[in-house]
Amino acid sequence: MTRSSTLWEAAQRYLPGGVNSPVRAFRAVGEDPLFIVRGEGAYLIDADGQRYLDFICSWGALLAGHAHPHVVARITEAAQNGTSFGLPTPQEVELARTIVEAVPSVELVRFVNSGTEATMSAIRLARAATGRSLIIKFAGCYHGHVDALLVAAGSGILTFGIPGTPGVTSGTASETLVLPYNDVGAVEEAFARYGEQIAAVIVEPVAGNMGVVPPVPGFLQRLRDLTKGSGAILIFDEVITGFRIGWNGAQGKYGVEPDLTCFGKVIGGGLPVGAYGGRRDLMAQVAPSGPVYQAGTLSGNPLTMAAGLATLELARQPGAYERLEELGARLERGLREAVRLAGVPAVVQRVGSMLTLFFTDAPVTDARQAEAADTARFAAFHRAMRKRGILLPPSQFEAWFLSLAHEEADVERTVEAAGEALREVARG
Ligand SMILES: *Cc1c(COP(=O)(O)O)cnc(C)c1O
Repeated sequence: MTRSSTLWEAAQRYLPGGVNSPVRAFRAVGEDPLFIVRGEGAYLIDADGQRYLDFICSWGALLAGHAHPHVVARITEAAQNGTSFGLPTPQEVELARTIVEAVPSVELVRFVNSGTEATMSAIRLARAATGRSLIIKFAGCYHGHVDALLVAAGSGILTFGIPGTPGVTSGTASETLVLPYNDVGAVEEAFARYGEQIAAVIVEPVAGNMGVVPPVPGFLQRLRDLTKGSGAILIFDEVITGFRIGWNGAQGKYGVEPDLTCFGKVIGGGLPVGAYGGRRDLMAQVAPSGPVYQAGTLSGNPLTMAAGLATLELARQPGAYERLEELGARLERGLREAVRLAGVPAVVQRVGSMLTLFFTDAPVTDARQAEAADTARFAAFHRAMRKRGILLPPSQFEAWFLSLAHEEADVERTVEAAGEALREVARG
């Protein structure tokens, strides 16, 4: 038995499904998971000493790569002064200031401990501020495991949602409308019909959780106009895109300002984090300045704040986002060419340092098209890449992430391996 297989056996004895988050079980690709003992830059080392070039990057959280010396030094320094106080610290003020200065729509920000908490709290605030109850979300967008957002589309476009998992009540699901991503017409219809009842529209401004699906031109702006027109709150879930696709996030890139923004992942530098922020008049309604309750024992944790600040310092260095864009473009070009040479139907979709190779023959603009991708072929491709020391996210419906630790040579090696792997799955 390898050390990994021993660990996997024990994990299944003590943890549900052997993991603490479902996708880590690698079921979608028919593999056993990896047990990681160390990360170094763009690389992971598993319990058997295997080295992998990592495109998961902790699901996008690690903009600076694994164990970046600057990030580690800041966390260590913070830890030596104590791990948690449950009282205000200088670091949380500094990280809040950094976010507020970077993202113009955010005037006040509240730190929480996960992206899930951020979206949950933003929705509570939107409902409180509007006195309305309905939420619009889009199929294929993931906003954490908040009950109101773990809702699947009903049978028609304008029917209320149905529970997306046992444990979410039909009452909760019935307050969420699930619409197709990028479908302006569906949103217009929803506002025409339910305008005065809609508290908020929540959207991933670049979808990352059905694989990478960019917004079609005009989609985000139309959401802005419709919400403004009806007095609903527009929430951008930038848990992935915030500080990843640029210093000002997706809202900076596409030039659309939401009322509230959710953050997570990158701003915690690899430690547990979330945040929500936005217009001052809205955020001032959060306790203790306002009546909307929301709290957290470990919120603004000093280690997390230190890791986030250190990561954003690296992101802010001149040329950092240009470098990520250049690496992303190189990877995209190389994969496109490899796909063409292998003659496999596949498309590559990318925004900055997030990318997905869909095994389907036409561009993907919504969840229905994403679901048409050949997941068996993706699984075979994933295995073929893993065999070559390259670790992709273990599902067709996830983004690959680049970090500042990835190098041109890593991208070249990936493209070469993908060429071989694609030829393999073309035959299979
Ligand atoms: C990861 C993610 C979340 C949830 O964040 P957690 O920290 O896992 O709770 C929410 N929204 C988006 C867009 C995400 O990618």
